[in-house]
Amino acid sequence: MTEHYELVVRTTGTPAEPSTAEVDAQWIARAIELATANVASGGGPFGALIVRDGGLIAEGQNRVTANLDPTAHAEVVAIRAACQSVGDFSLAGSTLYTSCEPCPLCLSAALWARIDRVVYAADRDDAARGGFDDREFYELFSRPRSEWHIAIDSVRPEDASAPFDAWLAHGDRTDY
Ligand SMILES: [Zn+2]
Repeated sequence: MTEHYELVVRTTGTPAEPSTAEVDAQWIARAIELATANVASGGGPFGALIVRDGGLIAEGQNRVTANLDPTAHAEVVAIRAACQSVGDFSLAGSTLYTSCEPCPLCLSAALWARIDRVVYAADRDDAARGGFDDREFYELFSRPRSEWHIAIDSVRPEDASAPFDAWLAHGDRTDY
């Protein structure tokens, strides 16, 4: 049986505030639209946007191949544009809507941007079906680094932590 939805229209009083689910559906639809349109433009199938206080701050589409930038994921592009738009390196109070579950890079970018909430449509399995490494990287993070295909070595001279001494001694620093 097909599920049936009915739009409830109020005939009196002020219009009902849309529910969180309705708002989410609206922004997610836009993120998917951005992602699909980006394919036609020669980019990767990913779109994202940043919303705060009910308003759109910025949108982003995957620009990895176009910009020769492996970090130009849709979420990162949207975060960069949003920060420029609001003139702040913090996006606290914002929601990141993205057409696909953020990869570890983008999830970390959302953490650094102090975004409050992430909402995604497709997931890492969908991305894997498209040939993307999101799921593989998540699985990599759960394994010991000794098993990783990328070498991560520590070289620690005596002044390794000197930059942090300089940072802590700098009275005019901007904490973030
Ligand atoms: Zn990403």
